Amino acid sequence: MIPLSIPELAGNEWKYIKECLDTNWVSSVGAYVDRFEQHFAEFVGAKYAVATMNGTAALHISLMMAGVERGDYVIVPNITFIASVNSIKYAGASPILVDIKDDTWQMDLDLLEGFLEKNTRIENGNCIHIADGKRIKAIMPVHVLGGMCDMTRLKEIADRFYLPIVEDSTEALGSYCQDRHAGTFGELGCFSFNGNKIITTGGGGMIVTNDPELAKRAKHLTTQAKSDPFEYVHDEIGYNYRLVNVLAAMGVAQLEQLGGFLERKKEIANTYKQSLDGCADIRFQAFDPEVQSNNWLFTIRTRHQPALLAALNDNGIQSRPFWVPMNQLEMFKQDLYIHEADVSDVVYQECLSVPCSSGLTEAQLQTTIQQIESTIGQLIKTSLPNS
Ligand SMILES: *Cc1c(COP(=O)(O)O)cnc(C)c1O
Repeated sequence: MIPLSIPELAGNEWKYIKECLDTNWVSSVGAYVDRFEQHFAEFVGAKYAVATMNGTAALHISLMMAGVERGDYVIVPNITFIASVNSIKYAGASPILVDIKDDTWQMDLDLLEGFLEKNTRIENGNCIHIADGKRIKAIMPVHVLGGMCDMTRLKEIADRFYLPIVEDSTEALGSYCQDRHAGTFGELGCFSFNGNKIITTGGGGMIVTNDPELAKRAKHLTTQAKSDPFEYVHDEIGYNYRLVNVLAAMGVAQLEQLGGFLERKKEIANTYKQSLDGCADIRFQAFDPEVQSNNWLFTIRTRHQPALLAALNDNGIQSRPFWVPMNQLEMFKQDLYIHEADVSDVVYQECLSVPCSSGLTEAQLQTTIQQIESTIGQLIKTSLPNS
């Protein structure tokens, strides 16, 4: 089988992990946690980084630190992985789901701005949703598949409506908007090192910020909010959300290879685009000119999606549909969904992700491209009489 997106562990992973085992520094503290945080902050250009056990935990803690409380609203795109919206629910808040743009598949900022202008008022520095008097407390842009919305414009909108930005940058390590790294536009940015992400620690996450107080508080909240170095005194309800040293060791080794991973991802994306451009109605994710994507998960769009998805998987080429839009999931059907058309649904129905691991061989890449071309060729031939 040609896998969709799997880890590549070809660097110092064994060596660093072995060092943890040999020295008995396997658990909650250790030099690799500090090193991983430091190297990560340097790479993205943030002042501080705090490691967490996964990206979802990073999002949950960041929303709390942004001041999100029970009964608040948080704005989030309608097309995302469920963890974004779950983290909003963990914080006791409700999502305001915003439809996406047809070309970039990111949150539609025209829709967002129109909604805020017509439906909110500012009261004592809070953005109030007029219809029910509830507070909108944060915006969570999600950098879908490593792309980004125009972050400069989003920041302007957020400032105008007194909304802190918590970036779900879990898919965007190595992505930039106007030479600034994803996750560094908002008050807080969150990353994930799950197995399918561009670098992995098996499971892991990171919070980045330029605010020393927020960084301190992130460490505090993720380590059970212990306030005394010796006595078991805790000054609030904290969480056991820290990343252990063994996994941080893996993270340090992975980070060393990130440059190579990004290059290979770019080659893979370019090969797909050059080969499939003009193949029936196949389209690709678009990027605003100021955005440089990490090409995390290569995804194509075609009205032949269902048949193509089936054919690829039947032929041992692991291929996956896009996420079911959040407004269509049972738990979120009652939540606000801001839209004109329902772009999310069309994009969901027409998109599929194809193999693009950094370890993908040239032969695997060509096999996948040929399978896509021949399947689409067949589909067009059989559908011709009706068209
Ligand atoms: C991967 C991912 C997350 C969550 O990360 P975990 O580390 O798996 O908890 C959150 N949001 C999005 C958009 C993701 O793709």
